Amino acid sequence: MEADRRIRVVIVGGGTAGWMTAAALATLASGAARVHLVESAEIGIVGVGEATLPHLRAFITRLGIDEAAFMAQTHATFKLGIEFSDFGSIGERYIHPFGPLGRPLAGVGFHHYWLRHHRAGAVPPIGDYSTGIVAAQALRFARPAADPDALDGAYGYAYQFDATRFAPFLRAHAEARGAVRSEGRVIQVDRNESNGDVTAIRLDDGRRIEGDLFIDCSGFRALLIGGAMGEAWEDWSHWLPCDRAVAAPCASPPGGIEPYTRAIAMAAGWRWRIPLTHRVGNGYVYASAHLSDGEATDALVAGLESPPLAEPRTLRFRAGRRRRSWVGNVLSVGLASGFLEPLESTSIYLAQMAITQLIEHFPDARVADADRDGFNALVDAEYDRIRDFLILHYHATRRDDSPFWNHVRTMTIPDSLAEKMALWRETAQVSRYSHGLFLEPSWVAVYLGQGIVPDGWDPRADLPEADALDRALAGLHGGIASAVAGMPDHKAYLAADAA
Ligand code: FAD
Repeated sequence: MEADRRIRVVIVGGGTAGWMTAAALATLASGAARVHLVESAEIGIVGVGEATLPHLRAFITRLGIDEAAFMAQTHATFKLGIEFSDFGSIGERYIHPFGPLGRPLAGVGFHHYWLRHHRAGAVPPIGDYSTGIVAAQALRFARPAADPDALDGAYGYAYQFDATRFAPFLRAHAEARGAVRSEGRVIQVDRNESNGDVTAIRLDDGRRIEGDLFIDCSGFRALLIGGAMGEAWEDWSHWLPCDRAVAAPCASPPGGIEPYTRAIAMAAGWRWRIPLTHRVGNGYVYASAHLSDGEATDALVAGLESPPLAEPRTLRFRAGRRRRSWVGNVLSVGLASGFLEPLESTSIYLAQMAITQLIEHFPDARVADADRDGFNALVDAEYDRIRDFLILHYHATRRDDSPFWNHVRTMTIPDSLAEKMALWRETAQVSRYSHGLFLEPSWVAVYLGQGIVPDGWDPRADLPEADALDRALAGLHGGIASAVAGMPDHKAYLAADAA
């Protein structure tokens, strides 16, 4: 019989990151990898992380997972975007949708025409030109039509789900495809004396598990990448000072289910509201320098629509990331690799991105430096861009009602963000990048949503006659309104899907 030459992949941790990695490798790289996952029920998982981005759809599709089965088991609802309240100023709100605002005319971005119109007088908010936003506000949902240029196809969607159900769901998928699981606590890591690579992990019951490639999915503990490999942490808490969250579910209110996540700015951070089919997830993300744990819990509970269904749970974290996510034969995925607060639901996306890149760069018998460097460069770029985008939500504010908002409004921001904001203010242009999260529509939604209206716009937007532009905008506005009027109620759509 031929020897099994596949790489022995050992995954430490069975939270969302660990089981996403195991499921993806067992499905997509089974010819190259033998997957062994170690987790400790005694330690448990972080168990939050309920709002996602549309990319997750591609992940589950690529793994051959049936969307309806996944949604039923995780009590998922559909998500068209995030509504931000009180960020720019108290009383203001906007939705950051998954999809464009309006549609380009003659190759020029829609927002340039909207700005021209806006300067000329009262016009509907830019959100009225987005099918996703109008549907979200009407609590309506249907999967988008195949044609992304059609008004009923010009939006994306993601899921809101029960974070404690996702990892077990993926576990079943991974184990059915050959992934092996061991229960136990890792207490020691063995390393090769000459090159520093990890050779094996030891469990509390004496078992020793050898491997060729180790994936650290141990969450905030970062046992391998931080502990064994000692990779430095790049701290971003001076820009993103929130370092705690308190979370508690409550019962769903009667009536419709919002097909969007809510982020509501608070005195020392913000709170989330994520509607699922069986309950609502809530949490207050705050800066401990400005608010005590007790005050945060009281504020969270006071804002719930109904009594909490479980004891509020406090979590601690720090914004930042590992200097390198892949060092030697240890690669980190999920919270072990970095943490950016869930303001834009980016963590699960970051885990997914790392897994996709790992599969692209999957090592042969030994890890090639070029693959590792390529992987680290991509991960860095993703983290840096998301970091800037999150800082924008805090810095672009007129709030001066608390020490927290005074701090973030007046703090020095990264040069990379300062340059982007200057370009926007002057020209209404969004800095372009070809790869990664948050492209033009996202930046436009947050800039305008938080009240940064640029001084100018693309001069080509001045070309159409005013009447012709009026008619084009009115046509789009009316077309979106009637496309949304034809969509089912979100709750009814979920029920029909589940039937
Ligand atoms: P964990 O869930 O912590 O899993 C770690 C695993 O490692 C566990 O199985 C544990 O048992 C194991 N382990 C640890 N030490 C050992 C050991 N010694 N031996 C054996 N096993 C060990 N993300 C989003 O995308 N959207 C959101 O809305 C969102 N909201 C969030 C809100 C908060 C407050 C926080 C803190 C995070 C949020 N996230 C969100 C992030 C999301 O929760 C995580 O990215 C996701 O759950 C992945 O976590 P993980 O698997 O890396 O870590």
